[in-house]
Amino acid sequence: MDEAIARRKRINRLKKMILGMVGVAILVPIMICVILAVKLTEQKHQTAQLQLQLAAKEAEVQTEEVTGVFTTAHVEESPREQVEIQETEQEEAEGIAYDKRIYLTFDDGPSSNTDAILDILKQYDVKATFFVVGKTDEQSVALYQRIVEEGHTLGMHSYSHKYDEVYASKESFIQDLTKLQEHLYDVTGVWPRYYRFPGGSSNTVSRVKMQELIAYLYENDITYYDWNVASGDAVPGQLPKDTIVNNCLGGIQAQADSVVLLHDVGEKDTTVAALPEIISKARMQGNVCFLPISDDTLPIQHLTAE
Ligand SMILES: [Zn+2]
Repeated sequence: MDEAIARRKRINRLKKMILGMVGVAILVPIMICVILAVKLTEQKHQTAQLQLQLAAKEAEVQTEEVTGVFTTAHVEESPREQVEIQETEQEEAEGIAYDKRIYLTFDDGPSSNTDAILDILKQYDVKATFFVVGKTDEQSVALYQRIVEEGHTLGMHSYSHKYDEVYASKESFIQDLTKLQEHLYDVTGVWPRYYRFPGGSSNTVSRVKMQELIAYLYENDITYYDWNVASGDAVPGQLPKDTIVNNCLGGIQAQADSVVLLHDVGEKDTTVAALPEIISKARMQGNVCFLPISDDTLPIQHLTAE
């Protein structure tokens, strides 16, 4: 009897032990799962916060890149104010914010005067346009490059500038144009897209109909510009400096958008001498800006394609 009781007790103890072990075997993984779940939630929360911080930082950096302003005050500006600043900068680049837009253009260079012209433009913080001809000497190549590096527009004015060759036929015009365009691209890396016809689009020397040549330019994404202000410096020899200044200022006075014809030629020193006065006196005419020719420039053309 005693033995039977002792046996039952043993069995009961054994049962408890087994139940206990089973319980532990079930509980431990559940507890581990719960702990891991809590940790995971914490991590997710942290990640979300870090992502938010990162997004905010990126937005700050972008804003600074766009406007180029690196003040803490700027970061606090509203998106609307930022848009307005960008619009103002855009309007300045296009000259919309000004009453008058002046495009100084220099034909026939590069020459021994190009450096002097570029120095004056730099001194007065003016960007202009150079309608150049084809030259391959080292000095001329350096001048094409300086024109581009200093933010001016490098335009084309035919390779040879010989009327009887350029205007002999449509084929010879295309050949001359292509030669200059490829040469300028080779030495500056900029593909020129603006053209000034030798003698202007209203010249009477061309043996080809000018409209045919104009159509060719447009087919090839080239815009041509004549002028609506003549400095008068195209006359043989040197025009007196004051005459050049007066011709330019009178023309600029008369209109909102002025494309001013000047020459970059070695012997035309009075043009160089007139330049500082043209710029400073034009600025006295009011809210004016000097711009290089771009796609935003009003095309001043004596002739148009039919
Ligand atoms: Zn010319």
